[in-house]
Amino acid sequence: MRYVSTRGAAPALPFDDVLLAGLAEDGGLYVPEAWPSLSPADFDAMRGLGYAEVAVRVMAPYLGGRIAEEDFAAIIADTYAAFDHPEVAPLVPLGADAYLLELFHGPTLAFKDCALQLLGRLFDHVLARRGERITIIGATSGDTGSAAIEACRGREAVEIFMLHPQGRVSEVQRRQMTTVTADNVHNLAIEGTFDDCQDLVKALFNDRALRAELPLAAVNSINWARIMAQIVYYVWAALRPALSGCAPVFAVPTGNFGNVFAGDCARRMGLPVKHLVVGSNRNDILTRFFETGVMEIHGVHPTLSPSMDIQVSSNFERQLFELYDRDGLAVDGLLRAFRETGELRVDPARWQAVRETFSGYRLDDEGTKRMIKTIHDETGMLVDPHTAVGIHAGRAHGPTADAPLVALATAHPAKFPDAVEAATGVRPALPERLADLFEREESYDMLPNDVAAVRGHIRAKIGLAGAA
Ligand SMILES: *Cc1c(COP(=O)(O)O)cnc(C)c1O
Repeated sequence: MRYVSTRGAAPALPFDDVLLAGLAEDGGLYVPEAWPSLSPADFDAMRGLGYAEVAVRVMAPYLGGRIAEEDFAAIIADTYAAFDHPEVAPLVPLGADAYLLELFHGPTLAFKDCALQLLGRLFDHVLARRGERITIIGATSGDTGSAAIEACRGREAVEIFMLHPQGRVSEVQRRQMTTVTADNVHNLAIEGTFDDCQDLVKALFNDRALRAELPLAAVNSINWARIMAQIVYYVWAALRPALSGCAPVFAVPTGNFGNVFAGDCARRMGLPVKHLVVGSNRNDILTRFFETGVMEIHGVHPTLSPSMDIQVSSNFERQLFELYDRDGLAVDGLLRAFRETGELRVDPARWQAVRETFSGYRLDDEGTKRMIKTIHDETGMLVDPHTAVGIHAGRAHGPTADAPLVALATAHPAKFPDAVEAATGVRPALPERLADLFEREESYDMLPNDVAAVRGHIRAKIGLAGAA
């Protein structure tokens, strides 16, 4: 198994190189050169297995022999032992013909742990074998930063610098990053916005002199290994006894399209999937695309579901590649025009084709609060704002008896306590192991929004000669 770029002009690479590269040389994203398939008998044989064993069977075909199977099984067992629920991703009832798939039982209470906990361990394994080290530099507006730090803390071969906009992430999110005490974790509070942080990271990645001294890696959702790890819980959900013999409708609160794209990968591998429903907040570029066949950039508005406040969904490029029959040059042309004009239009036949699998629905903040309250009134459960957007989309599409709804719960309600309390009057409590989060000591460095200052700081921390 090798991986090809969605823009058709980068060399094909094996799994371990794709893991470390992140983005392809031609600016594209890596996808498998062909989709592995599992037969109905393969899926049946996984019934009754635990999450870790299902994970090994689903992901093994993607490794192309680059990681020994017994090593991989040990890495997977260790990864999902870090979750605080024995089933890792439990499926709980949510009214008639509907279920919630809880993906927030990892260390930082968001679904990103499902993939990033594995990614950190894979980095260490591959780098140790190669005798190499990497430095991860990222920018975060919240969930990705804490999940990436938690995944990399204490890893031998990895140094991680995470930039967050000072005073602009929630207190829970900041403390989940800044109370981690490992020597290889460096939190930088930047005097600027999230966009400033992203621009600083881009400038550092474009700095050839720095990259010559320091191999850099990224952990954002364009990394193929993150998508791969997310395929597992779609298969896991469909194998639960409650869904036996059904092809579920999956409803997914969506930002960068990484999570829901993994659902499409599961479908391409042969999993019976009736439909994939995308939920968006006011930042509804995807929902508008599924409604009209035109992708058009608007500004970004802050909402109650900040991890979905995006202007463009970077992983949609992988879907475009499939939609254009894996023609990388066609994708490259569409994206060039998109950057120039702010508009991407697919022809009617392809628009119809994508709508056979996907639909999109939007929900504003008022609707989100109403949905959180509705779920609480109906079931007694508290759901976070992202999850509420997904449930709305799933209900709007409509489950049926032979195609039940599985709504993905992407964050624990205690990660967004203010919104949940405003909607229900109930303040969700942090789980036991995070209960003392507000008493823990914080450590971070404050830096101006200035690339020379950030570069100097990173070089000094790494101990590069002549650092200033
Ligand atoms: C990141 C995130 C999302 C969006 O996932 P994508 O893969 O970017 O579509 C949704 N909900 C939560 C809680 C998140 O952290």
